Amino acid sequence: MLDTTKYEKWLLTSRILQIRYIAILTAILYCFAAPLDSLIVTTKQVALVHLFHLYVLPPILLIISGLSFFKKSYSKMIYLLLFAPAIAAIGNLLITSKIDNPNLYLPEMYLCIFWIFTISGLKLSHASISAGIVIFISSFSFFYLSYEAFLVHLFWIICATSFGFTGAYLLDRSNKKSFLHEEALVEMARTDKLTGLYNRAKFDEVLAYELSRNKRVHHPFGLALIDIDFFKLVNDNFGHHAGDDFLIEIAQLIQNNIRETDILMRWGGEEFALICLGTDLTGISTLMENIRKKVEQHHFVKVGKKTISAGVTIYRENDTQTTILTRADEALYLAKNSGRNCTKIVS
Ligand code: GH3
Ligand code: MG
Ligand code: MG
Repeated sequence: MLDTTKYEKWLLTSRILQIRYIAILTAILYCFAAPLDSLIVTTKQVALVHLFHLYVLPPILLIISGLSFFKKSYSKMIYLLLFAPAIAAIGNLLITSKIDNPNLYLPEMYLCIFWIFTISGLKLSHASISAGIVIFISSFSFFYLSYEAFLVHLFWIICATSFGFTGAYLLDRSNKKSFLHEEALVEMARTDKLTGLYNRAKFDEVLAYELSRNKRVHHPFGLALIDIDFFKLVNDNFGHHAGDDFLIEIAQLIQNNIRETDILMRWGGEEFALICLGTDLTGISTLMENIRKKVEQHHFVKVGKKTISAGVTIYRENDTQTTILTRADEALYLAKNSGRNCTKIVS
């Protein structure tokens, strides 16, 4: 399933450079058009043409480009990008209504529609709105073009719109596919294939994030390392297949007994790591003891009764991945040395 909000954020991030540089390129091309304008229209009319092609559109395009440097201004940038073509269309309408040979400037609108859909960087829905506004404004040329000229103009507008829309639609489809593909790859890289839990890569990611977050705001968390007692015997007595099924079953059992905000991961072979957010030492120790008892009482389908040992610790100021993990590991070692099937704490 496509998470639209996430997709649109991803799309915008991947298009920000395109928006920035296409806006600059378009501004430059408008400026280059200025000497041409002087050749095409009379001295009286050139002021109007330059007003749009030199003094209105290039600055707007440069502002769009400038806004692309600031994340907070992205929505302003999109609005401006969406309405800039409308300003170009108004300018084009005024120019073509005033000059003797409007055909010299009408193609600007076909290019404009194509620009909106294919290279502006607008998403499909925004591009459709923007192109709709341009078409609406351009339709006012009906009042000053001859009937035949208007029909031809309309035909080219329809061509530009259908080509542009189809191109943008196909691009959008392939972008969605790429996004879903990327999401699936990221998810795969973070998931343990056997148990379906998060894996060590995700553990490192969560731990690094929580440690850096605690440098800014106090948001304590607890860490527990869980190790199945005498797991090797399961493999030896029941075979590897049964060992695998047991791992799946115990992972599910633990997962069913934690809160939504707790993150359970397969840390290694028959070891699990549990990160509990917004908790204190008593909170995580109590939770861990509950889990341990649940496992002790559970009858596993293929292997019967089994137990776990756990080492628990809590975030301390200036902790690094190594220091917090060393404490949890020490606690687990204590649990193993205390006869197993127990929870030990190193705070
Ligand atoms: P202890 O109580 O000291 O933890 O004893 P243990 O037997 O559980 O300890 P040890 O770490 O020596 O054994 C872990 C075993 O887990 C060894 C390895 O063959 C097995 N193992 C690791 N990953 C898997 C897996 O994915 N599937 C299966 N079936 N076995 C695995
Ligand atoms: Mg082990
Ligand atoms: Mg073990």
